[in-house]
Amino acid sequence: MTTLMKERLLEELAAAEAELAEVKAELAEKPDMGPGTGSTGAALWEMNLARRDRLEMRIRELHQALERVRLGTYGRCLVCGAEIDPERLEIVPTATTCADCARRGRHL
Ligand SMILES: [Zn+2]
Repeated sequence: MTTLMKERLLEELAAAEAELAEVKAELAEKPDMGPGTGSTGAALWEMNLARRDRLEMRIRELHQALERVRLGTYGRCLVCGAEIDPERLEIVPTATTCADCARRGRHL
């Protein structure tokens, strides 16, 4: 199960990194701020900035999850230490808390 999750995490990491590279390439081209065309270019630029931030956060989370796999603590709730429901990990592979703690808004 852990081996499967590790592969899944690595796949998601590769996908996120590929997407991040794409977004960064798009951001490398300055938007056309000229009159008439400016608003679309600027809006797209903003969207890509938000997308880049989201992807960087996701990549960080995936790295942390992989680190937990390495340490053998993956799949355990960081708050109460209970096993995280495999179905929850299936949906949210980077989950760090069990459904109970998440519902109660408990964090580290
Ligand atoms: Zn918990």
